[in-house]
Amino acid sequence: MVAYPSKMIDYSRPMNISSPKTVVLKFGSRLLTNGTAELDTERMASVARAVAACADRNVVIVSSGAVAAGFQALGHVTPPTRIARRQAAAAVGQGRLMKLWGDAFHDVGLSVGQILLTNDCLTDRRRYVAARRALRALLQAGVVPIVNENDTVSVDEIVVGDNDNLAAMTAALVDADLLALLTDVPGVYDRDPDVDPDARVISRVSSAKELRSLCFGKKEIVSTGGMETKLEAAERAGRYGVPTVIAAGNEPAVVTAILAGEAAGTRIEAHAEPLRARRHWMAVQKGLTGWLVVDDGAVHALRRRASLLPRGVVGVGGRFRRGDLIAVVDDQGVEHARGIVRFDDRDVERIRGMHTDEVKVVLGVETGTVVMRPDRMVLSTEEIPA
Ligand code: GLU
Repeated sequence: MVAYPSKMIDYSRPMNISSPKTVVLKFGSRLLTNGTAELDTERMASVARAVAACADRNVVIVSSGAVAAGFQALGHVTPPTRIARRQAAAAVGQGRLMKLWGDAFHDVGLSVGQILLTNDCLTDRRRYVAARRALRALLQAGVVPIVNENDTVSVDEIVVGDNDNLAAMTAALVDADLLALLTDVPGVYDRDPDVDPDARVISRVSSAKELRSLCFGKKEIVSTGGMETKLEAAERAGRYGVPTVIAAGNEPAVVTAILAGEAAGTRIEAHAEPLRARRHWMAVQKGLTGWLVVDDGAVHALRRRASLLPRGVVGVGGRFRRGDLIAVVDDQGVEHARGIVRFDDRDVERIRGMHTDEVKVVLGVETGTVVMRPDRMVLSTEEIPA
């Protein structure tokens, strides 16, 4: 393990980073337990103090440590690898984890709320909306949400698998301004600091891809503490428009600096043209149950980011309700876009091909006359994340 060389971080580095309003702080198991089976209550207390000192920030904590805090109670000497046993350990440990976070925040006058997510909280629209609303309600109430994966029910299809990616997902859910992946190294080094005394922490890059090109692929670089999943998570957060910082969570000053919007560790900027959470959600859906067949004029209009009007719709397929995500296809069945439809299938059937004035007569003015709006639509030519 690489020791923490505190001289490598210069908190006063001017970086023009505006203060983040909503921050997701992710703490890994190793950081919270120091590699033991006991949660480090002092570390949790120092995090709580740092959060309490920034009362004007919305802070969400993504906390691992459920398996780590639960496996011994089940008689295991080391963390189990079999899934059912890990899930059982998480069931025991999650309660302990929440108890200790609750105690730490209670001491600084704050309450915590437990949020357990699975991957379908991003892919299932209703779950996505529910999780987003719950998180917002907690933040509005001044409560600190403590997020973990819902390990006991996470089967293959819905598992996120690691809390770095879970934290990226959480950042999308709360429209965070910053994702901080806190680890036990000060950031991402350009060279192996164990071998090369000149190794330095890379302070800022424009993307996870650039970071990879700067350090990975060179044999001597250490990939400490699951750096690969951190870069993957940073890449994911970047697509949602959220920058990521990878920094030392074992230094209380670092957490404080991050919350204050000061430079720390390695900062990976977000994509210039992010796919916001809702668009991401739309892009990744599979098995849509409804679709609209549109004419060539409508396809061109959609590409110019215009609304889909009844006039361009030539057919209605499948079943859908107002608010459902459906596909927009041409007469060959090729998907050109997908988005949230503003009418039930039967109403679209009634108004398809009509001009706006006729639609108002048939359906009434208050329903509107647009079938799909550009801000509720993602084009198939847009970059769709893996
Ligand atoms: N959800 C797991 C736990 O709390 C941790 C997964 C991870 O750290 O990546 O034990």
